[in-house]
Formats: sequence, structure tokens, C-alpha cells
Amino acid sequence: MNKRSEEHPATLHSPREWSLVEDAYDEKDNQRKESLFALGNGYIGMRGHFEEGYHGQEGISVRGCYVNGFYDTAPILYPEGAYGFPSEGQAMLNVTDAGVIKLTLEGETFHLNRGHVRFYKRVLHMQSGVLHRLVEWESPAGHRVLIHIRRLVSLTHRHLAAIHYEVTALNFDGTVSICSAMDGDIAEADAPDRGGDPRLGARRTEPSLLLEGAGSDGRGGGWLKQRTRHSRFALLTAMSHRLALPPSASYSLSEKHDRQRLSVQYDVALRRGDTVSLSKFISTHTSRDTREEELLMRSTEVLQMAESRGFDGLAEEQHAYLDAFWSRADVEIKGDPALQQGLRFNAFGLLQSAGRDGRTSMAAKGLTGEGYEGHYFWDTEMYVLPFFTFTTPEIGRALLEFRYRTLEQARQRAKVMSQRGALYPWRTIGGEENSAYFPAGTAQAHINADIAYGIRQYVQATGDEAFLVQQGAEILFETSRFWVDLGHYNPARGGAFCIDGVTGPDEYTAVVNNNVYTNLMAREHLRYACETAGVLRERYSSDFARLERKIGLTEGEILGWQQAADKMYVPYDEELGIYAQDDTFLSKRKWDFAGTPPENYPLLLHYHPLVIYRHQVLKQADLVLALFLLGEQFSREEKIRNYRYYEPLTTHDSSLSPCIHSIIAAEIGELEDAYDYFSRTVRMDLDDVNGNAKDGLHTAAMAGSWMAVVNGFGGMRLDSSGVLGFRPVLPPQWESCRFKVMHRGRLLEVFFDKEQVVYTLREGEGLEIRHDGERLAIRPGEPVRRALAADREPADSHLGN
Ligand code: BGC
Repeated sequence: MNKRSEEHPATLHSPREWSLVEDAYDEKDNQRKESLFALGNGYIGMRGHFEEGYHGQEGISVRGCYVNGFYDTAPILYPEGAYGFPSEGQAMLNVTDAGVIKLTLEGETFHLNRGHVRFYKRVLHMQSGVLHRLVEWESPAGHRVLIHIRRLVSLTHRHLAAIHYEVTALNFDGTVSICSAMDGDIAEADAPDRGGDPRLGARRTEPSLLLEGAGSDGRGGGWLKQRTRHSRFALLTAMSHRLALPPSASYSLSEKHDRQRLSVQYDVALRRGDTVSLSKFISTHTSRDTREEELLMRSTEVLQMAESRGFDGLAEEQHAYLDAFWSRADVEIKGDPALQQGLRFNAFGLLQSAGRDGRTSMAAKGLTGEGYEGHYFWDTEMYVLPFFTFTTPEIGRALLEFRYRTLEQARQRAKVMSQRGALYPWRTIGGEENSAYFPAGTAQAHINADIAYGIRQYVQATGDEAFLVQQGAEILFETSRFWVDLGHYNPARGGAFCIDGVTGPDEYTAVVNNNVYTNLMAREHLRYACETAGVLRERYSSDFARLERKIGLTEGEILGWQQAADKMYVPYDEELGIYAQDDTFLSKRKWDFAGTPPENYPLLLHYHPLVIYRHQVLKQADLVLALFLLGEQFSREEKIRNYRYYEPLTTHDSSLSPCIHSIIAAEIGELEDAYDYFSRTVRMDLDDVNGNAKDGLHTAAMAGSWMAVVNGFGGMRLDSSGVLGFRPVLPPQWESCRFKVMHRGRLLEVFFDKEQVVYTLREGEGLEIRHDGERLAIRPGEPVRRALAADREPADSHLGN
């Protein structure tokens, strides 16, 4: 057998830095584990539900199989609607479960709640990308088997998943039946229990997929074709099998088709000590990305390819793919195994869930659960994108291409909002706005500026000007038009450019005038749009001319963007010496934190929005996020003062918040805070910090943990001219830290311990960087060492009191 050593059951106790281990099955923890042990490849997602199935009993299991970008629509019903509210909602669908495998020993069916579980272990190996489960089970009649199940969702073949199911008869001769099925009847019983949590979205009352056809090849292969009820997308799920038997064993095969369920049963006569294994290959195609008439043909091709490679061949490819990924994306921390495990788990999770075909993006919960209905938010550009831009830029580009592909819907949305240009949706799958609660949805126009920021960072870090010219510029120009049309020169503010009626990232303060984050980011956006217009005009004149014609762009308009940027109003409170989060924030009453019992968090589940809006209280970083993103625009003293004001008012009820606080705390020398916030982010799901990992993983926080190391402790910033700078600080708990970043085709390794930092070029030609302000030329084969920058004075000494 061609197995890699760490995939062998004997090594399941390998150090946890590269794996996630479960030693016992516990019903009450199962849903959370299903999220943690989910597998995916950016297209297919499979929760870690067991092959034998535990769904149907409320609260025990949400078996979930998802396809990125595959959704159904349903009318949104508003008892009191208003013009421009989205009339339809999109929701990522829980699709056919093709991973069903039931095992029966002499008439008794394997289930962890039955008989006797003599040994149990489940391990996710992050280097091989294979999920293992090893169980020794004794049936109520005393028949014992060793079951070893391996599962993968292929990172190299996006339509493919595979399961290898191996059974050894330990103490008996008899019949072992393996029944492998595909179940397309996904009912409400498979949906998560919402328990009044608005973050889970509306409950569906009807089955999501309608059967259109089914077929089998008489050799254990079969397919189901289904269609979504409203969006009318087609889905084709197919499976095939390979059975491996000991030479003396015999078997019989029977097939069944019952409405949306296809099954194949292998009855195998085994002797004591014999092992039988079934390889199951599963393909998923949809009419969203494959021509409908080709769905079956493409599925057959994928399954034939998989059969020819076999499970082990696919596992080898998977390992090779991950070797390449980790060689660029791994962050290594010495001296802190739990955080090390968290960092790797997070990077692996991001890779598993990020769309990479230019048609899809990254859902807030990735492909691991149905929280937020599978919608894409600003989380992608502000949190997830930097990770890919600096480690796997081809995925970064694909995420941005999704925005270009949906630019037309953003134009339409701006029209509905009586505005020129384009306004991207706060939450979406197909490109249309899905937010039914506008104060914490459509009002978050900052998403336009977030996308612009992501484009700039991507282009500066990769040098991919082709993307800027072909797609990015059009996005930047159309979204700039929106700002200039939305804002106004306000005589009451001395003619400054003001933006009214928006919500910033902090969703505990809504529909305000001049949210500071929005204004600062819009200013940056407008400046970058002007700069881009200049680049195109000078160096890509025919592309520029084409774009001018296409969108009717005029020179006067570009001047208007510059003027709005120059005159942008930035609310500032002279008395406190801090930026005001908006025009009225600082005049509100402060939230009574002392009088709020711990069980009342998150506040959004215990107080009416208006109660929250009337107070100075933050759900998540707002201005503090701008201090990080636009760091060059603030002095160190300003960062300290503003952080000190807003940090105590922040609940971190959003998982997007602690990582940003960690970064700024590290920058201003508050290492203890930085470390605490980092710990909270990096094990957000492993430790279920927010108590809702069962509904899916927090992908923005996962990416935030990477940022907290690279931008926080590593101090990495990309300056306005595109040069990378670093200022590493090592938390006292660590011995050392190592990470790598891609910059314009070079791979730079940054290593730091208690004494020094070493910059080494691992790929590509020379690179100029900054270390604590000093310019350094890094050449191949010539690592450059520097002493760690001197400790910063404690933040207090800068406050002038
Ligand atoms: C946060 C948003 C975020 C959304 C999806 C909300 O709780 O406040 O900023 O985009 O979750 O992750």
C-alpha cells in the first residue's frame, strides 16, 4: 500500500502541532466537532458528520454538504417593507449528502451509541489534508471490527471528494455489509436549530432540491440530478466505488433507488482477521459552472480519473499540494503548541473554504456551516484577502475577480439607492444585496472602500497591474462615483466633504453622519482611484480610452474625486484629543459595563438595537481598524490615545474585533494586551470562544490570527509606495517566530527570536525592505540580521499625563 507514514493509524498520536485529535465521541459536542472536522477545497464543503449518520435528533448533528456559490432564493417577507429593501434572499444550500456509508455485522448496524466502542480516535492531518477515523467496535452480539475511515476533499480536483472505508473482522467469520449511499432528500431536520439567533438566518420550510433524474451503471456507480426550487440551478452528484477484498473472500452487490436516495450494498463474507475496503469517489457539478448538458459527462470523467488514481494516489496529490501551500503559508511559533496548532488550523481552514474560480468568494463561515446563510461580506477583503495576497496570490486575485464579475449588480444597487456609480452589497452570494436589516447592512457603504483597499494592497504586493488595468480600475472608478454622489460639501462644516447616513464597521452604532472609518477609507479610496487613473492614462492609454468610453468617464469627474478626498471631513474632538467615531458618538452616554452580567453578551442577543445605539459601546474595532489599515496617517501618540479611549468601550461581540486590537496593541508596545487578544482570536473555534462554532467556523478571525502574527508581532506594513516594512516584537511566552510572505514574486522569510531578526530570501531576486525604518537590501543566499528593535516605552509615557 502506498501510504504516507503520518496517515497510518499507528502514528495517529503524532504531535498536535500539525493535527487535530478527538479521543472520544461525545454527543453534546458533536455539532461543534462537525464544524472543526469539516473538509473543503473552496468549491465543495463537507462538514465532519459521520458516514453512518446521526442527524434527525435535534441538536446532535447537522450533516452539511455545500457547494460554494450554489444557492436558492426565497422571498424576504417584511411586515413593514420600504422602497429598496431586497425582495429576495439567497442562501447557500445544504446539498445531497453523498458520503453516507452504513456498516452492518451479521445483521447489526454500526453506530457509536450502540454496542461497545473499545477504541475511538479521529484525526485531521493538516499536512496531508486527510481526515482519519479509527474505531474498534463490538456489536451487541459480540462481533468486533476495526474500522479505519479516511476522507478527503481534493485540493487538486475541485469537483472531487473521496472516502476510503476499511473494515477488519477481529473475532469472527461472517457477513459484513457495507451500504454506500447518496441522499438527496435534505430536509429541515438537517438544518441547524436556530434557537432565536438572528445570525443563522431564516428557517426554510420546504425541501431545497427537486429531483430531476437518476441513474446507475449496475457496477456500483450512480448519479442524481436535482434542481433548486427557485433559482433553478442544476446539481449533479455522482458516485463510484472500488472494493478491495482478501483473495478468498466473496461478495454480492445490490442497488436500490428510492426517490432522492441511491444506494449500493456490498455483502462480503469475511474470515476472522480479513480486511475489506471500499473506496468511494464522489463528484459534484452544478450548472453555475458547467454547461447543463455536460454535467453527466464531466462527472463521469472526474470519477474515471479518480478511480484510475485510487484513494492513495489522490492522497499523494493532496499531500504534494499542501507541501507547496505550507512552504509559503506556514507560521511557526516555538514555545506555544496550542497557539501553533490554532494558527495552522486557521490557515488550513482558509485554504479549504476560499473560492478560487473568480465566480465565488469566501462565506463568513466558509464551507463549514450555515451561519450567515453562506453570505460573503467585507470579511473577504479586509481579513481573508491579505492572507492570500501574501501567501497564495492566485487565490487573492480570484477573490477580487468575484467583485469584478458582480460589478453590474453593484451598479444596479447604486441606482436603487438613488446614487451614481456602484454600491457593493453588504452580504451576498450571487452579487445582489441580501441584507434585510439596512442599519447593519446596506448602510455599511464602507464595503466599497474596503474592496478598493483590497485591490490596492493586492496590486502593490503582487505587481499584478494587468488585474488593475483589466478589472480593478473599473471597480475603483464606479465605486468612487458612488462616494462623490453620496457625500456633499457641507457649509455647516466649513465646506468639508461629509458622508451622512452610514454605518461603520461597529454595528452597535448605526446610521450616523461622518463615521470616521468610512470617511478615512473613502478618502483613501478616492485618492487611489485618481492615482490609478493617472497610471492608466500614462502607461495604458488605449485601455484607459476604452474604459472612458465604456463607463462615460470624464476628466472633470476625476478632479471631483480628488477634491472630495482633499476636503474629506474627519471628525476630531479637540478636548479629548481623539478622533470621534462619528458626529454624535462622543456625546452619548457610556454603556454600563459594570452593570452588565456576563451572560448578557453578546449584547445583540439581549438588548433591542435602539438600546445599544443610544450608548457609547462598540461591537468591534472601528477607528482602531483604521489606525491599522491607514497607519501612516497617524502618529504613535494618536494611536495610543485613540486605542486607549475606544478599547475599553469595545465588547468584541464580533469575532472580527480581537485580532485588530492585538495588532494595534503590539504596535504601541502593549504586549500583554496584544498577546491576550491574539490568543482569543487564534483559538476562536478550537476553544469555542464565542460559543457558536457549531454553526460554522469564523473565517475572518482565522485570517485575523495570521494578521495578528504577521502585522502585529511581525510589525509588517506595506507603505504607500509598496515597500514592505517590519518591526518584530516577540511576546515573552514565545522562543521564536517564523513566517513567510510573497512580495512581487519573491518569497521572504522573517525569523525572530528574543535577540534578533533574520530576513532571508527563499525565492526570487533581490528585494528592498525596511526594518524599523532602516532600508535593507535582501539578496538571494545572503540573510540579513538585525537586533530586535528596542522595546517601546510603555504607552502611558506618551499620553502626557
Ligand atoms: C460583524 C460584521 C461581519 C459579519 C459576518 C458581524 O457580526 O459585525 O462585521 O461582516 O458578522 O462575519
